[in-house]
Amino acid sequence: MTTKTAGLEELLMHRSLTDEQLQAAAEAAADFRILADATVIKVGGQSIIDRGRAAVYPLIDEIVSVRKQHKLLIGTGAGTRARHLYSIAAGLGLPAGVLSQLGASVADQNAAMLGNLLAKYGISVVDGAGLSAVPLYLAEVNAVIFSGMPPYKLWMRPPVEGVIPPYRTDAGCFLLAEQFGAKAMIYVKDEDGLYTANPKTSKHPTFIPKISVDEMKAKGLHDSILEFPVLDLLQSAYHVRQVQVVNGLVPGNLTRALAGEHVGTIITAN
Ligand code: ADP
Ligand code: MG
Repeated sequence: MTTKTAGLEELLMHRSLTDEQLQAAAEAAADFRILADATVIKVGGQSIIDRGRAAVYPLIDEIVSVRKQHKLLIGTGAGTRARHLYSIAAGLGLPAGVLSQLGASVADQNAAMLGNLLAKYGISVVDGAGLSAVPLYLAEVNAVIFSGMPPYKLWMRPPVEGVIPPYRTDAGCFLLAEQFGAKAMIYVKDEDGLYTANPKTSKHPTFIPKISVDEMKAKGLHDSILEFPVLDLLQSAYHVRQVQVVNGLVPGNLTRALAGEHVGTIITAN
């Protein structure tokens, strides 16, 4: 073992597991990325899949072609059906953990639809994107589909207010990218990126090509194009220190973003 972690075992036996010195020792080990050459892309639920054929078919074509050059972990959003479920379940007084399961079932439906469309190319849906067969699928066909909701289910951390699960598919996809030490995280949505205000409801919003988490918070944009807990996850991430949000309704954008081009909004940890 490296000398760097030599003191760790001793600390682990005698200190609280959140002790500062222990944390520092645990961090000293060399960095390791499990799937360093894979990119996680999230296909938006409301923003892409709910638009049906017009949005989904061109994106499928692009995925099929671009996976020749890039290894893709394709996560799905939930969208309008999940919002409908949340409104019913919240009205029934059900808790965040139950809503989390309901939302996950919609992300599952979207993964099933993408899976059926991509089946003839050998691209499969995995049940739970923890390791299992993910590396094999990536090695063989360069792509795999997963349901984007993080599997917290009943153990979803409840929000401070209300019952809407705070960690939904933006967070689920980000966490997977971070844990696997993926090369990049790309959100495929229906706007060119982040604006100074919601372009769907505001008249003349200004496009923001690049912004840090702190700047986003300072501008009051923390709850806008990404689920707000993703910003904190990004800030404390080791591997994935920026994400890009791209417009998946524009053909070619995903391909360019995968090539490292700046085509949407890049949100940086600092
Ligand atoms: P997903 O389909 O991945 O869940 P969402 O629909 O939740 O995506 O998020 C994308 C939407 O966020 C955009 O369609 C847009 O209407 C909305 N949005 C809110 N505020 C902003 C903003 N400041 N800039 C860009 N988009 C915003
Ligand atoms: Mg969303």
